[in-house]
Order: sequence, then C-alpha cells, then structure tokens
Amino acid sequence: MQDQLIIYNTLSRTKEKFVPINAGMVGLYVCGPTVYSDVHLGNCRTFMSFDLIYRYLLHLNFKVRYVRNITDAGHLEGDRDEGDDKFAKKAKLEQLEPMEIVQKYTLGFHDVMREFNTLPPSIEPTATGHICEQIEMIKIILEKGYAYIKNGTVYFDVEKYNHEFPYGQLTNRKMDELLEGTRELSGQDEKNGRLDFALWIQSKPETLMKWPSPWGWGFPGWHIECSAMSSKYLGDTFDIHGGGMDLQATHHTNEIAQSQACNHKAPVNYWMHTNMLTVNGVRMSKSAGNGFLPGELFTGDHPLLEKGYSPMAVRFFMLQTHYRSTLDFSNEALQASEKGYARLMTSIKTLENLKISATSTSNIKELQKNCYNAMNDDFNSPILIANLFEGARIINSVNDGKETITTADLSALKKIMHDFVFGVMGLRPENTNSSTDKALQGVMKVILEIRKEIKEKKDFAASDRLRDDLNKINITIKDTKDGATWSVQ
Ligand code: AMP
Ligand code: ZN
Repeated sequence: MQDQLIIYNTLSRTKEKFVPINAGMVGLYVCGPTVYSDVHLGNCRTFMSFDLIYRYLLHLNFKVRYVRNITDAGHLEGDRDEGDDKFAKKAKLEQLEPMEIVQKYTLGFHDVMREFNTLPPSIEPTATGHICEQIEMIKIILEKGYAYIKNGTVYFDVEKYNHEFPYGQLTNRKMDELLEGTRELSGQDEKNGRLDFALWIQSKPETLMKWPSPWGWGFPGWHIECSAMSSKYLGDTFDIHGGGMDLQATHHTNEIAQSQACNHKAPVNYWMHTNMLTVNGVRMSKSAGNGFLPGELFTGDHPLLEKGYSPMAVRFFMLQTHYRSTLDFSNEALQASEKGYARLMTSIKTLENLKISATSTSNIKELQKNCYNAMNDDFNSPILIANLFEGARIINSVNDGKETITTADLSALKKIMHDFVFGVMGLRPENTNSSTDKALQGVMKVILEIRKEIKEKKDFAASDRLRDDLNKINITIKDTKDGATWSVQ
C-alpha cells in the first residue's frame, strides 16, 4: 500500500508518486506557530491538514519523524527586516517578560491542538533553543560567499546566489519578475539588493531578546531557524516540508536558498502547501483582525457566529474540503458539518448492533478500495468522507433490514469505519463519557420503557406522538422486531 501514495509537489507543480529517501524513517517538517499571540482558526486549519497527512502516513505503516517548530524569536513587525520585534512589543503591552509571552501562547497552542485531537509532533524545537545551530549555518553561508555583513547585520546575497541556483523556483518566478514586486532601496537601506534578507540582525540597546554572535549581539532572522532545525533533525535533504501557502513566496523560498547555499543540495523532495481559511473571501489573519479564536468558536461568543460548535464538528468541517482548496467560513457550512459528523458517529454506534446474514448485498472490498484510492490521491479527504457516508448508508440499510451483511464483511466494515474515521481523520466521539450524555442514556431508557407500556395498552396515537415529538428535537426512534432503538441525528 505504501507505494501507491501520490503527493502534489509545489516545487514541480505536479502530482508525484511518493518515494521516501528512507522508508524506515520518513522526515516531515511543518512550520509551526509564531507564539506571540493566540492561534486563530486559519492556523488551526493548516495544522489539522498536516495532522491528517501525518496520520495517514502512520496508517500506511511508515515510521515518521514529524518536526513542527515553535517560532519564539526573530519576528519583526515589518517584512523588511526592520520594525519592532513582535515578541518584545507584546511583552511590553502585557507587562510580561518575552519568554512569559512565549510560554503563555505555546501552552495555549497545545491546548487548542489537544481540543482538535491532533497528534503531537515527534520533536517540537524552538528558535531560541537553537541559536548556536543558526549561527553555525550563517557562518557557513558567509564562508561560501552567499552573504555579507553590514554593521553587525548579516544579509543573504540573493543576486550572487541566483547566478548559481535559480531563486524563486517554488513560486515559478524569475529574479526580474520578483524584483518588480519590491520597492526601490532607499538611502537608509543597508542591504545591497532589494531581495536580500537578514540572516542575523544586530540588536539595538532596547532589544530584549538578543544573543552574542561572531557579528556582535543580535538575533536570528525568521527564515534561518527552519533551515537550521530541519537539517539538524531530518538531515540536509529530507522528504516532506509543509506550511500554509502564504509561506511559499518568501519564507520557504528563502529556506531553500539558505540550505542550498550552505549544503549545495536541495533541502526537500516534496514541498506541500495548504490553502487558506477565508472569511467572506478574505484570508483569516492576525493582521486583518478577522481571526476567530478556537475558544470563541466553541462558545459561539463572536458577532459572526450564530452559535457555538464542538471541536469535532469543526474538525469535520475542515476535512470536508481538500487541503489545497480554499475554505470559506460560514455558519451554514458548519451546521451542515455538525449534522454530517453526528450521522457518522451514529452509524458507528449502530455498527455494534448489526445482525449477521449468510450473504452480503454490498461490496465492502470495493468500499475499502475507494477509501484508500481517495487518500492515496494527494490525501483527498472530501472523497474519503463521501465513501465513509456510503459506509454509513450501508450500516443504516442493514439495520433497517433492507440489506444484509456477512460476519466477514461486517468485521471488514468495522475496520474501515474505525481506521478511517478515528485513526486517519482523527475524529473522536464527543461527550460519550460526560455526565450529560449518561443522563440522556438513562432518560431515553425510561422513555422507551414508558412507550412500550403505552403500546402494550394499544394507545398507538400516544406512542406515535411521543415518537414524533422526539423526532422534532432530532431524536429518532426506530421500532424493530427486538424493541425500539434511538439515535441522535
Ligand atoms: P503563523 O503563526 O502566522 O506563522 O502561522 C502558522 C501557520 O498557519 C503557517 O503555516 C501559516 O501559513 C498558516 N496560516 C496562517 N493563516 C492561515 C489561514 N488563514 N488559513 C490557513 N493557514 C493559515
Ligand atoms: Zn518555517
């Protein structure tokens, strides 16, 4: 099964068969959050998409070293290597130490990831924990002649690099096209070229987060952390590097340039980029101010939200769209996902009570093949979900006595539903152990007993009314030969 996986590679702009460097250990690196503020739902979409990818690789029995970093230094307000450091600015605002800001938002990020049932990465390295590695890499880039020093700041020389290696491959753009999109250098600019970027930035007297280096006190540029940490843990060339599409043009383009300049090797075989979560067509971002926090979504406490949505309904909503398509937030779509998620969960519960027959009316092997085909085709979760709904339809039909299933097919169907719904999609039943859920189970047991007695007294009008009233609040009663069953739709 491992040899059937196809991945869309941003670098080649085609779907390619996945051939790992070493099947014994697949290297996966994903750019993690910048922890000077809370993650918004857009960030969560990217991390959930890579969680699906990680889970499916594990499901295919690959051993995976999944590295997702924490950016806790070196992020400036402007995108031109100038302006305030975002961590220091937030620290002043909240009257905390910069590392208290880092701790607070890292813990918050972990809480959110747990709510969404994402698996933790194998290694979660931080930029501040790898200053030595970044300095060493910058030294090599300088020695090899692809960088220069101006007043204690080290810049990457994009023009020099571009003479030997194509810069901008990831977005398929040449230097002159890229230059068109940048402003002219002013007299105040230190750098030689408009596309040059800082590897190391000299600190000012008021800079809070700074380290000694061969070029004086300063702090690393943003891009160098990912090059240094990915090569440290995954090697100079590794299998998959991912992040949101907004990282392609600058962050990942510069990562390729730094690693290539340092090691004279392409750092990554498969570049994967997730598309954006949008609100009314506008990308959700910290700067646009249109970002819902996951907590607001769970409670419904936001002007754009009609109500609160559970973490699993939101996860299901995310997975209903392929990771390379944009996903626009809407209450209607979330409410549809809520119902879809509940339908899947109900069918999985029903699976436990299905009756066995001598023959099967459905082709379960075909269903299994279709689930694998969907995921092998660049992790196509919406097609996977369509197949799982077909599984749910079969379950309900067998439960209603309209179709039949053999013992072998039933255990195959259970395996498909459990493996893909829980293992690959990372959904989990919600509230099954909560006291409310237990109370509901108890109440329904009492109601069904009363209804049975009503029916025995042949008061069919009353028993039907009870069934219809429950139906109005989305509780479905089914009368079977062995008594009545109930489910929440
Ligand atoms: P940041 O903390 O801003 O560096 O972002 C962390 C991750 O979230 C990066 O991989 C971004 O590309 C991704 N990201 C940011 N905004 C969105 C969005 N609206 N939709 C999906 N992913 C996003
Ligand atoms: Zn990165």
